[in-house]
Parts: sequence; structure tokens; C-alpha cells
Amino acid sequence: MNEGFERRFKGQPVSPGIAMGKLRVEARGCAAPLIRSILPTEIEAEWQRFEEALNRTEAELQVLKARVEELSGASEAAIFDAHLLFLRDRMIISRIRKEMPKRLQNIDSVYYAVVQNFMEAMRQVDDAYLRSRVVDIGDVLQRVLKNLDQGRARTRKNKPVSSEPCILAAHDLAPSDTADLDSQNVLGFVTEAGSAISHTAILARSLGLPAVVAVPNLVMESRVGHPAILDGYNGVLILNPTQETREYYERLQAEKEKAYQALVDMKDLPAETQDGRRIHLACNVDFVHEYSAVKRSGADGVGLYRTEFFLLGGDGLPDEEAQYQHYRRLVEECAPQEVIFRTLDSGGDKLPFEVLEEKEDNPFLGWRGIRVSLSRPAIFKEQLRAILRASAHGKAGVMFPMVSGLTEVKEVHTILEACRQELRERGEPFDEQMRVGIMIEVPSAAMMADVLSRYVDFFSIGTNDLTQYTIAVDRVNYRVASMFRSTHPGVIRLIHQTIAAGIPTAICGEMGGDITLVPLLVGLGATELSVGAHLLPLIRFAIRHLNYEECRQMAQQALLAEDSHTIRTLSKSVAKRSYPGLFE
Ligand code: PEP
Ligand code: MG
Repeated sequence: MNEGFERRFKGQPVSPGIAMGKLRVEARGCAAPLIRSILPTEIEAEWQRFEEALNRTEAELQVLKARVEELSGASEAAIFDAHLLFLRDRMIISRIRKEMPKRLQNIDSVYYAVVQNFMEAMRQVDDAYLRSRVVDIGDVLQRVLKNLDQGRARTRKNKPVSSEPCILAAHDLAPSDTADLDSQNVLGFVTEAGSAISHTAILARSLGLPAVVAVPNLVMESRVGHPAILDGYNGVLILNPTQETREYYERLQAEKEKAYQALVDMKDLPAETQDGRRIHLACNVDFVHEYSAVKRSGADGVGLYRTEFFLLGGDGLPDEEAQYQHYRRLVEECAPQEVIFRTLDSGGDKLPFEVLEEKEDNPFLGWRGIRVSLSRPAIFKEQLRAILRASAHGKAGVMFPMVSGLTEVKEVHTILEACRQELRERGEPFDEQMRVGIMIEVPSAAMMADVLSRYVDFFSIGTNDLTQYTIAVDRVNYRVASMFRSTHPGVIRLIHQTIAAGIPTAICGEMGGDITLVPLLVGLGATELSVGAHLLPLIRFAIRHLNYEECRQMAQQALLAEDSHTIRTLSKSVAKRSYPGLFE
């Protein structure tokens, strides 16, 4: 094969845009540590392997420390001193020594178990600072496991940083890797795995990075350093593009930017249908630097702030004060518009809250969302108090992810009221009327919407998870990605049932940002859509060209339809007739 020829790889486009640069290729991450029985005679060899892994980890940490010291100063780098101390902690090492002959298992799993026990003990302590150090221990654990060659996860802190802008090709990327990409000179990425609804794809859109997923054999067939073009509109990676291809993409990029700018220029026009139905058009925010995009896009506030990327993206959980300062900044910047804070939604495909002792085989049905917060009340309360305090500086609301029924709602209210009382006693101001809502993303919650509506001020339908849980299709599994259909009649009926409960209901999943499905959602009665900042100009344009009465009639037909294709076609025909220009 002549590697100089232009080659094209087709995949699924998940984040629009065009990137041009050299290719950087990353191999697969580490696998989970497997438990393997050993003979007593093998203990010393295992120990030797462990010593070597500790030495390698120590060397890595020293390099990282030096790099951070150079970039940010000695106090930032001091965190690695704690890592280094823990790495050689005598108590842990002697515990492992004792456990080896008892367990007769490979050193990876013994080390893992001992450190996990230690972390669990740390989680129980009252001292918030000590609790926050658990994250550092988890970091060291992952690093040692990786160096033992059977690490269970990748850490984002040991990613290579490219010195020149590049397009990243990888088997898969975790949301935590993606959150870190823009600091690594990455212009766009392409993966073998992945789906449009995964948090990795959602983050790519938030970061404005073109992305393509589901490209078979990508890693094996790509070559580091080759010139490449990534077409995030059509889902194509082109290696060694010819001069002609380059020129074509330069033209396409300029045209797309011009068309988009024309839509952005309409930001001050209301999101109102031709027959006068006003839709509240808000923004989804994942990162701090998106705040300015909220302003520029003319959004009616923030309908979903995913707090997990801020909470879990750094070194250790920020305490109440740090959270308050962060939330306050967003509230002040968006005032007088409202900011809806979604409390920590860890687990699933997102950042883990804690490294678990046992791997969750089915993480989406496991320890995720409100379940995590309710089982860590001290941490949950810190977040709630911080949000309440921020509410004193503008307009804030709070909502809870992955609620499955009334019991959780009642528990949340009790904890929230305790937080209000603590703030009253501390004399801290907050908005007593701050709106409280829940996400509707579990089918049981949608079915109970009439009951739940008596206990909260608003609903926000997370169509990404509602679809995944209703039709039992994992939102990140590329093998079933083609089955992921938010227009499945079962999903549409649940959305209808939720809206029918009669309290303010927003749509904040990716479905709301799909120009094909806006007529359906408006017709079903949604009065608020919350979408990624870059999509907002398109959705505003779409709403302004719709007729509500026509959408309503079409939605009635959709509710009688028997399959997802019919429903999508019904909505698409209204969309194409109303704003053909957006489909060109
Ligand atoms: C959803 O599930 O639709 C949603 C908006 O939440 P997330 O994508 O963060 O799970
Ligand atoms: Mg969700």
C-alpha cells in the first residue's frame, strides 16, 4: 500500500466542523484488573513486579511534578508530594505483604483490595479535606495498576500533550479524556467506538471540536504524523488529502461559517412560532468557558448546567466555598436569566465519583446520579448549600438527575430543607423561592409524572437517558447505536405523558437540538428547549418558521403511529417544508 495516497474512512458524524492537521494516534486504554490465583512460590516474583511498577510510577510522578511546577508554580506541584508519599506508604505496603500469602492472588488484585479498604475508611471521616484526598489516592492506584500492566482505567493526567495542533485518532475516548482535549492541542477527534448520544460526543459539541465516531479499524490503519482532514459534517476522515481535496474543504469551511454567522445575527429575535407561541430557548452548559457563548447566542438562560465536569474534572472535589464561587459567577453572568443547576450526575459513562471496589458490569443501571448523592449526604449537602447561596446573586434553580420515583423526591426535599435551615442559622442569604425540579429520564418517573408534579416546580426531560432506559439501548454502545431512536413510539408517549402533567416542562436532551424533531416537540406541547450553545441559532430559526397549530396536529398523528420511522418522517416533512434552507 502506498501510504502517500489519499484515503477516506467513513464513520458517524457527531460534532460538526472541519479540522485540518496531522494525525495523532492513541492505542486502547488498560483493561480491568483480573483476579488470578497464584502458588506460594510465585509470591516473590509478584512482589518483584510490584516493586518495578512502584519505581516506574515514582518516576512518572516526578516528571509530572516538574512539569506542573514549571507551568503553575511550586504550590500547585505540591499535590504530587502527597501522591509520592502515598505511593510508598509503609502501612499499605506491609498490609499487602501480609495479604499475599493469605489470598494467594496476583499482586494487582491484592494491591487493589488493600487500597480500596483504605479509601473506604477515608470516606467515612468527617474531615472534608481528608475525604477530598481520596481522589488522589485513586489516582495513584490507577497509575500503579497501569504500570502493573493490568490497570483498570486510564487517568487523564498522564495523557501525552502534543506540541502542534493535531487530529486525534483513538479506539475510544472517555468523557474525562474529552474534557481535557482542548488543553492538548487537539483540533478534532475520530474514534472506532462511540455514539452520537454518549457524553464524549456531547462534550465534543460543547467544546466546538469536530468529531466522528464508529470508524472501523481506524487505529490499525492510521499512521501518526500523516496529514489529515476531519469532516465532522459528513463523518469522514481523509488521510493524505490531495491539493484538490484541501481546497474543497477550505471553501466548505468558509461557506459553513458564513451561513452560521447569518443565523447568529438573529440572536435578538424571539423564539416564537409564526402563530405566536413563544418557546423558552435555553442553553446546555458543560464548561466554564461556555458562559460567553450563552450570552452570544442570545439564550433565555441556562436550562441545564451539568455540574459533574466541574466537580470531578480537577484534583479533588471542590468544597462548598469553591463551588459557591463558581456557581455564583455563572448566576451573575447570566442574570436576569435563570441558571438551572443539575446536581452531580456521576456514573454511567461519565466520570466515576469513586473508584469502586467491584467493577459495575452495567453502570447505567448502577450507582449513578441521585443515587450517588443520596448515599453521600455530606457531599450532597455541600453542593446544595453552594447552589442555594449562589441563588442570592441572580436567578438560580436546581434539578436532580436519574430520579425514578417519589421516594427519592421526598428524600431530596428533606435534605434541601435541612440545607436551607443551616444557611438561615449561618445568616447566609439565599432565594427562599428558588425553583426545584427533577429530570425525567427514567420511564417510571415519566409514568408517575402526574404524582411527581405535585412535589416539584418543573420537569426537564432528559431524552438521552429516557430513550436509553425506555427502549433498553445503551447510549454509548456502538453495536446498538443504530437502534437508539428517540422517536420510538414508547418514548414519544412518555414525553407526552410528562408534558400532560401540566407543570413547566423543558426538553434538555440532544433531541431538542435536532432540527428534524423540533416540530414534533413543539407540537407535543414543550414550552422550553435547552440545547447546546452552538445549536441555539439553528433552533431559534427553526421555531420562527413553524406554525404551532400545524405542529400540534402532526404530533397527534405521531402519537397514533406504530413505529419510529413514521414519527420521524411526520416531523421531518413539517421541518423541511418550514425551513428547507437548514437541510441544505
Ligand atoms: C439526558 O439524559 O438527556 C440529559 C440531558 O442528561 P445527560 O446527557 O447529562 O445524561
Ligand atoms: Mg441524563
